[in-house]
Amino acid sequence: MPQDTYIINKMRYYSFNKYLRERHGVRVHRLSLNAGFTCPNRDGSISGKGCIYCNSEGFSFFGGDKLPTIEEQIAQGMAFARERYGAGKFIAYFQTGTNTYGPVDKLKKTYDVISRFPDIVGLYISTRPDCIDDEKLDLIKSYADRYEVWIEYGVQTVHDKTLELIERGHDFETARLAILKTASKGIKVAAHLIIGLPGEDEAMMAVTAKTMAKLPISGVKFHSLHVLECTKLADMYQNSQITIIDRETYIDRLIKFLEYLPKTTVIFRLVSDARPETLIAPYWMRDKHQVIQAIEREMESRNIRQGALNK
Ligand code: SF4
Repeated sequence: MPQDTYIINKMRYYSFNKYLRERHGVRVHRLSLNAGFTCPNRDGSISGKGCIYCNSEGFSFFGGDKLPTIEEQIAQGMAFARERYGAGKFIAYFQTGTNTYGPVDKLKKTYDVISRFPDIVGLYISTRPDCIDDEKLDLIKSYADRYEVWIEYGVQTVHDKTLELIERGHDFETARLAILKTASKGIKVAAHLIIGLPGEDEAMMAVTAKTMAKLPISGVKFHSLHVLECTKLADMYQNSQITIIDRETYIDRLIKFLEYLPKTTVIFRLVSDARPETLIAPYWMRDKHQVIQAIEREMESRNIRQGALNK
């Protein structure tokens, strides 16, 4: 990250990079891992179709390494990040699919792989809020004496009408209860939230922001709704049933959202990634770095800071 960007970033919102540097003192890199978990919203347990924006080709929407074992993914990811970014420590980020969807002994075997890599300092687990229970939380909590442990829940919005429209297969109450239970066990919670969902205007986004701000979440990962090939959302977009917000609207809503969040909430990501070969819209997402710079410039010019409207 260029120094000027880092300085603005440092002043205006609490970036994940800043958080990691403060805690570990070195460059920490997140390794996106694909442990082969599927999803109940895809395998027929809830639905066989998935969320309307989820790319059906191996969850490639999320990225994730294609190497066959977690060990290989970690080793290759570490070598790359050491050379490219000068990374010194690493976070194992179980990202692809629903990473608590399985029996506890399978989860333990999966997560235990990280113990073979002494430079891993964090265990981050991405999952659905309807795929967690006390036994799984206790297992995840057991890693907290050696690692920084986070669970990231796909919340997306607090509006049930939208959750139905995007075919998530759970309501907001399920997410709220999962967050409360997880935080009560002392595990850090991050919420994955989507800006620009179909039918949602600025006022609805503000309700989501204010509601999330009151929950015990320690981090937020923003997702800019985008249309990928081979999704129901792509059909809806091509049939003009939905519109995708433009870059300026996205930036405006995002920075307003940041104002409602506590200034201590870690911002994992400002805008999502998409593989260019599968991205249908919006075009502006193709240059993520430019979008991030525009967000930071806009916060600077409007004198906006994370937490300014947090009461
Ligand atoms: S919960 Fe995640 S992995 Fe499952 S269908 Fe939805 S977006 Fe895809």
